[in-house]
Amino acid sequence: MPIRILPARLANQIAAGEVVERPASVVKELVENSIDAGANRIEVDIEKGGHRLIRVRDNGGGIAKEELTLALSRHATSKIASLDDLEAIMSLGFRGEALASVSSVSRLTLSSRTEGASEAWAAQAEGRDMEVKLSPVAHPVGTTVEVHDLFFNTPARRKFLKAEKTEFAHIDELVRRIALSRMDVALVLRHNGKVMRQYPALRGDNLDARLGAVCGQDFCRHLLALDNQHQALRLWGWVSEAPRNHPDLQYCYVNGRMMKDKLINHAVREAFGGRLAEGQHGAYVLYLELPANQVDVNVHPAKHEVRFHDARLVHDFIARALADALAQSGLGEEPAPII
Ligand code: ADP
Ligand code: MG
Repeated sequence: MPIRILPARLANQIAAGEVVERPASVVKELVENSIDAGANRIEVDIEKGGHRLIRVRDNGGGIAKEELTLALSRHATSKIASLDDLEAIMSLGFRGEALASVSSVSRLTLSSRTEGASEAWAAQAEGRDMEVKLSPVAHPVGTTVEVHDLFFNTPARRKFLKAEKTEFAHIDELVRRIALSRMDVALVLRHNGKVMRQYPALRGDNLDARLGAVCGQDFCRHLLALDNQHQALRLWGWVSEAPRNHPDLQYCYVNGRMMKDKLINHAVREAFGGRLAEGQHGAYVLYLELPANQVDVNVHPAKHEVRFHDARLVHDFIARALADALAQSGLGEEPAPII
C-alpha cells in the first residue's frame, strides 16, 4: 500500500482510542471543558448508562460562532499557544483533541452562545472529512455538548461497553471525583431523567457539606483535617482515621486535576505505616498544590497521571504531612524526618 494521509475521521477515531474508553471518559472531557470555560453550574444528563446519550450543559463563557468549527477540529485549543504555556498550564485541557475524538466515534452536537452574541449556533462534524455544519439554535450563554450513540461506528469499541448500570456507576464515580475538585461549581447528574446527584455550589467556609455528600457520613465521622506547607508545596484535605477494606475513597488532586497517582498512594501507605493491615487501605481526599512548572501533566493522553520534577521531595513531603496529622490525632506512627 502506498503511504497516504488518513481521512480526518479515521485519524480522530484512532486518537479517540487513547482517550475515549467508555461513557465516563466522555463525561470527564466534557465537564473539564466546562470548568475550563469558567462555568459555575454544570448539568450532566445521561440516558441508558451513556450508551444512548451523554449531555453536558454549562453556563461558562461559550464559543463564538466563528470558532465552533475549530473547536471540533483536532489539535485546536484555546488553552495553550506555546511550549512555555504547557509548562505553566493551569487549565485542565490542553491537547485540543477531546471534541474531535468524541465526535468521530459518536453523533455529537456542540451548541453554544457567548455573552453579547445575539444568536446561538450548533455545530456537527459530518462525513469522513468531518466537515462542520452550522445551524442556528436557541441556547442561553454557555455551551451544551450532546453525544448520541457513542461508538455506533466503531463496533470493536462498542462491544466492550458494559451494561447500562455498570457504565452509569463509572460516570457516577467520576462526577463524585469532580465534585470534590471544584466545590465552588454546582453539579447535577441525572440518569434517565432522574436526579441522581446534586451538589450546590459552595463558598470557602463549609466544604464539609460536599465532603459528606460525596464520601458519606462514615468517612466524615473519622475525619482528620490537614493543611501543611513545605517550600512551594502545599498539601491540604482530609484523611480518615479508619482504614477501609476497599480503596474506593482515595481521592487526590494535583493543582485541581484529579489523579490516580502511585507516588501519592505510596506516600499515604507509608504514613499510615503499621495501621494498615494486608489488604486494607487508607481513605483520603487530598489536594496537592505546587508551582505548575514543577509538574509535568503531559504524561498520559487521558491526563490522569503527572510526573513531578522532584518526585522524592513531593513523596516525602506528603508522607511527612500525613504522618504528622496522624500523630497529632494520637493514632499514627512517629513521623520519619525528611531526608
Ligand atoms: P482542549 O480542552 O484540550 O482545548 P477540546 O477538544 O476539549 O480540547 O476543546 C477544544 C476547544 O473548544 C477548547 O480549547 C475550548 O476553546 C473550546 N471548548 C470546548 N468545550 C467548551 C465549553 N464547554 N465551553 C467553552 N469552550 C469550550
Ligand atoms: Mg478539553
